[in-house]
Amino acid sequence: MRRVFNFSAGPGAVPEECLAQARDEMLDWQQLGYSVIEASHRSERFIELMHETAALVRELLAVPASHDVLLLQGGAHLQFAMVPLNLLGGSDRADYLDTGAWSQTAIEEARRWCQVSLAASGAQAGYTCTPSQNELRLDPAAAYVHYCSNETIDGVEFPYVPDTGAVPLVADASSHLMSRPLDIARYGLIYAGAQKNLGPAGLCVVIVRQDLLGRCAPTTPTMLDYRTHARVGSGYNTPPTFSVYFACLVLRWLKRQGGVAAIEQRNIGKAQLLYGAIDQSEGFYVNRVRAADRSRMNVPFFLRNNSLLEEFLRGAGERDLVQLRGHRRLGGVRASLYNAMPLAGVQALVSFMREFAQRHG
Ligand SMILES: *Cc1c(COP(=O)(O)O)cnc(C)c1O
Repeated sequence: MRRVFNFSAGPGAVPEECLAQARDEMLDWQQLGYSVIEASHRSERFIELMHETAALVRELLAVPASHDVLLLQGGAHLQFAMVPLNLLGGSDRADYLDTGAWSQTAIEEARRWCQVSLAASGAQAGYTCTPSQNELRLDPAAAYVHYCSNETIDGVEFPYVPDTGAVPLVADASSHLMSRPLDIARYGLIYAGAQKNLGPAGLCVVIVRQDLLGRCAPTTPTMLDYRTHARVGSGYNTPPTFSVYFACLVLRWLKRQGGVAAIEQRNIGKAQLLYGAIDQSEGFYVNRVRAADRSRMNVPFFLRNNSLLEEFLRGAGERDLVQLRGHRRLGGVRASLYNAMPLAGVQALVSFMREFAQRHG
């Protein structure tokens, strides 16, 4: 058996301990003689697991009692539609911040239901920075303000939480939820697909303030109304049971690591190591994102001499450093440093980068 350092942007690496536990109890879960995949979602054991999973999200992120934790399906993409369907509440206006590829996808979807006004755009700067608070052009009559708090493709992460006054703030936090403490009370709604920092695809965590529930138009499909899921502990229909189970293992692991404050310190260390190597390469490697807005989770970078890219990726692969190819939209290299990436993986990447730069510099 061979395990490598997996820098995939998503689905991303998960803690090896969790994989081992899932393997060990695959054939016989909780001495039932069958696997969790084969367990009824209405069984006591499984309902308990759903509760534990939501409770761990609540505990680890210190979610206040004013907010519900929902375990849904459809990925972040379904949230691009559910957010306007649920939060417009008869209004036809919402504010969106455009800070990169994922903001844009959310904006395109929202335009099907409302007038989207761009409260800020990073287009002119080539999506290399976030807008500052005083650059935001906020409409006090907007139904909500949406932003992507970590742009997975562009590698841009907000270093602050926008202040939107009385207008509910909504965040696509898919690629950095659980990587750092967040002041949940500041948000009307936060969502994250699980496949970046929480486990397998198929599960989407939504944290929503209760007073925002019940604003859907009557024609909204039952499954797309947050209230449907909030009323029954996310057990309205069959949940993605294996994904919930595995996310629970990852959340328990995160708790054993000391929680999000402890993992944040490790994430800062990993990011500093990699950005340091890029910045100290005398231009051999380039990351264009403004220093304060550089993502700790997703580090896109380029080789000054792009014709060396294939050799770089091949050489990395030979050292068990894999899934480093940049997103097709940007090219170059992208290293994702999710919670499950150990420091040793980043150390190995950085030493390969130094060696490669020396050989070709
Ligand atoms: C991965 C990602 C998405 C897309 O998630 P799906 O689960 O594939 O819908 C959306 N937003 C961000 C920020 C992401 O990182």
